[in-house]
Parts: sequence; C-alpha cells; structure tokens
Amino acid sequence: MPLDEDASNVQILCAWCQKVGVKRYSLSMGSELKSFCSEKCFAACRRAYFKRNKVQSLPCHQLDI
Ligand SMILES: [Zn+2]
Repeated sequence: MPLDEDASNVQILCAWCQKVGVKRYSLSMGSELKSFCSEKCFAACRRAYFKRNKVQSLPCHQLDI
C-alpha cells in the first residue's frame, strides 16, 4: 500500500469517517487516492473495499456499513 510520508500535516476529509483531520494514511483505489485520519479508518475502509470489490466497485464512503 502506498503511504505518503511527506504529508504529515496535510488536512484531509477522511474517506471513511468523513471528518476533517490530519492525513495519516492513504490508499489507492483504482484511479482515486483515498486519505484517512487514522489507521482504524484506513484498515476499515481497506477491508470493506476489498470485500465489496469482489462484487462491485464503489468508493468506500458509499458503502453501507
Ligand atoms: Zn477517519
């Protein structure tokens, strides 16, 4: 997984919890690069994405979890 190590103070809208926070993790999903505020969000979204991606491809914030 690509992790941005040079963006420690970048403010992002977390792709999982939809809150503004400091960018901690990022995950490439197809053509999109998702950013996350915490490892918890990153792990949860990654898990949901790959699980759901076997059936259909949706941005993780659209997944009904
Ligand atoms: Zn988050």
